[in-house]
Amino acid sequence: MSDAIEMAAPPWIGAQTEKLLTQQGHAWLLHGPSGLGQYRLALELAKAWLCESPSASGACGQCPSCHAIAVRTHADLCVLMPETTMLELAWPLSEKAQAEIDDKKRKPSREIRVDAMRDAIEFSQRTSARGRGKVVLVYPAEQMNAITANALLKTLEEPPGDVRFVLATESSHQLLPTIRSRCLGHAMVWPSLAAAQQWLVGQGLEAGQAARYLQAAGGRPDDVLALQASGRKAEDWARFPAAMASGDTSFVRDWSVVQLVDALQKLCHDALCVHQGAQPRFFDYQHGKHAPGLASLSQWSVALQKCRKTMEHPFNAGLMQEALVEQARTALNSQH
Ligand SMILES: [Zn+2]
Repeated sequence: MSDAIEMAAPPWIGAQTEKLLTQQGHAWLLHGPSGLGQYRLALELAKAWLCESPSASGACGQCPSCHAIAVRTHADLCVLMPETTMLELAWPLSEKAQAEIDDKKRKPSREIRVDAMRDAIEFSQRTSARGRGKVVLVYPAEQMNAITANALLKTLEEPPGDVRFVLATESSHQLLPTIRSRCLGHAMVWPSLAAAQQWLVGQGLEAGQAARYLQAAGGRPDDVLALQASGRKAEDWARFPAAMASGDTSFVRDWSVVQLVDALQKLCHDALCVHQGAQPRFFDYQHGKHAPGLASLSQWSVALQKCRKTMEHPFNAGLMQEALVEQARTALNSQH
C-alpha cells in the first residue's frame, strides 16, 4: 500500500488536487466511499501546501520539503491516524507510543488516541519550522472518538494562523456534525472505468484481470489494490456466486471471515439488484432456475450487517465460515 501511495498520483487525483488548490480554506474534509483515494488526495494537498516551488498542478516532488515528506520527517506536517493505519502506511509513531508497543505494554491502537490529538494541537500552536505554514492530516477522520473530535473542534474553530487541516473520511456520517460544518467539504470524484482500468494496467495488472477486479471492487481502484494484496485471484470472484449457491465451503476455506462477509454483502447486494430488475454491480450475477425470494434476501442482508459488527474476533473462524456459506446457500435458493 505505502509503495503504491508514493507513485505518481492517478490522473483523477491529480485533477482534484489542481481544483482544490485554486480554492482558499484552512480546513478541508474529503469524503466519499472507500477506495476512491481520500488519503492520497489529502497527502497531495499537504505536499503542495508545504512545497517550496509548487505549480498549479501541485507539489514539485523535488524540493527539500517534498523530500522530507517522502521520507516521513517533515517538521511541519502532522499526521493524525490510528496507530494501525500509521504502521500500514509507513508513518513513524511518536517515541512514547513506539516504546509502549515495543515493550508490549499495549497493542497499536485502532482509533486516533487522545495523546496523539494532544500532540497535534500542540503542533498546530508551534511556529512553522520551514516557514511555509503547517499541515495536520487526519485519516480516517471517523476514527476520532467523541473526546478527540471535540479537542480538534476547538482548534478548528480558532485555528492558530498558519496551520491548515485536511481531514479524509470514508464514513462522513460518523463524524460530529460540528466537525463537518467547520470544514469545506469535497466529495471524492469517481474515476471512469476506463481511466481506472488504464491506471491499474500501469500498476502491472493485466487488462482483463484489472477489469474483473474493478467489477469486484465496485469501480474503486484503491480497493482493487487491496483485493490484489489480499491474495484473491480475479477469477475467483467470477466463480464466487455459483460456489455460494451450491454451499461450497471449500471454495472459501482460506478466506478470512472479514473477506468472506465483505464478498457475501456484495453478492447479496447484487441478488437484490437483479431481483428488482437492475444490473448487478460486483458480479455477473444471475438467478438460478428460481429467483430467490425477496424476504429471504432482505433477511440475509440484515444478518450480514449484524455479523459485520461482531466479526472481528470470531471464537471459531471455521464454524463461522460454514454458517455463513450455509446462510448464503439458503438465501440464494429460497422461494419466498
Ligand atoms: Zn516541492
